[in-house]
Amino acid sequence: MGYWNARVEGMSAADIHELQFKLLKTQVYRLYSFSPFYHERMKAANVHPDDIKSLEDITKLPYMYKKDLRDHYPDKLFVGGQEELVRYHVSSGTTGKPTVVGYTQRDLDNWSESIARAMTSVGLGRNDVIQVSYGYGLFTGGLGAHYGAEKIGATVVPASTGNTERQLELIKDLRVTAICCTPSYFLHIAETAEKLGISIQKDTQLRTAILGAEPWSEKMRKRIEESTGINAYDIYGTSELSGPLFTECTAKDGMHVWGDLAYVEVIDPDTGERLGPGEKGEMVITMLQKEALPIVRYRTGDITSYDDSPCACGRHHLRIARLSGRVDDMLIIRGINVFPSQVEYTLMTIPELGEHFQIVVDRKGVLDNMLVRVELKPSAFSDKIADLMKLKKNVEYALRNSLNVAAQVELLEPGSLARFEGKAKHVIDNRSD
Ligand SMILES: [Zn+2]
Repeated sequence: MGYWNARVEGMSAADIHELQFKLLKTQVYRLYSFSPFYHERMKAANVHPDDIKSLEDITKLPYMYKKDLRDHYPDKLFVGGQEELVRYHVSSGTTGKPTVVGYTQRDLDNWSESIARAMTSVGLGRNDVIQVSYGYGLFTGGLGAHYGAEKIGATVVPASTGNTERQLELIKDLRVTAICCTPSYFLHIAETAEKLGISIQKDTQLRTAILGAEPWSEKMRKRIEESTGINAYDIYGTSELSGPLFTECTAKDGMHVWGDLAYVEVIDPDTGERLGPGEKGEMVITMLQKEALPIVRYRTGDITSYDDSPCACGRHHLRIARLSGRVDDMLIIRGINVFPSQVEYTLMTIPELGEHFQIVVDRKGVLDNMLVRVELKPSAFSDKIADLMKLKKNVEYALRNSLNVAAQVELLEPGSLARFEGKAKHVIDNRSD
């Protein structure tokens, strides 16, 4: 099993914890001295850097929220002057102000290092041609994957998003072996290939896909892998943390969070109670070495669980599970919590259904109404109304069983829903409040 950085990746769990404690101490002293924001927050929480006597004492530190980044727009949370910065990224705010992330050279180096380890852990290296089909620019996806791929000596095709036929031409002609993009965009590329009569397996060298920036299910992975013959890996990261950072290794059993760079906690989002291995909750991340925009106990809003047992690949860096969604993506339908990822998972268990779906929520009087619109597979598309009615009933039954709330189902002709080059929009919530 190849390591990019054997000294760090091969560390024992005890050594990782010892290193994390040292890095945490250093970061907390630094912030107490140089960040007015953290200084005030720590004072308000009645905690001094000297109170951090073990790694577990991290729980004494206050949380940091996305709102803090917005409230301190654009750069009031930064530590150090503009002369220390070498780059900005800006995330598009779906609500309110965008958030700005600044990077020192060391921040960029650590970011690339994280991706370099991740890409090596899925078997990529100097002999690979990696097409980066995440957006380049203010969004962190494109440049993040780009510099990681260059670092391991791979050849990069900076395709960015869009012009799917051209993407396929590049994949064929430049003998691309791996691609980085969103799962929904990969599906779109695969569909386009099929339409053009290109077999990804036979006509291209593409064998690896690193897919992320939106939640996707294990069933979706199976489908992608079976229909295209590639290995699909999950990747996690957000702009506040730097950008895309952590992927699964070849064991495909959770994404390794490099312990020298980040410390993960999972908590109950309502009570703040710390959860144990395997328990689902909100992920709270502390970036242990970030310089320009420090991130300590950041409430990511992402729902996952962690596993700190040794991985089959031999690494002891803890793994986080595929995201189940975001705290704020959760739909409350008639008082029941519903994650779009649960809907996707259930739909993918039904072989007649395609990969594209949409959830529409309305309120009629006081009752919430959930409509799930899903495309049929071309092979399942039929003119026989009786067959379709039966299938519709089956899908409604399956959804009701897994979500504990009734959903209406509309079966659609293949290709009728909008396709996305970046993140897919799976939910339309028409309720006014
Ligand atoms: Zn592993």
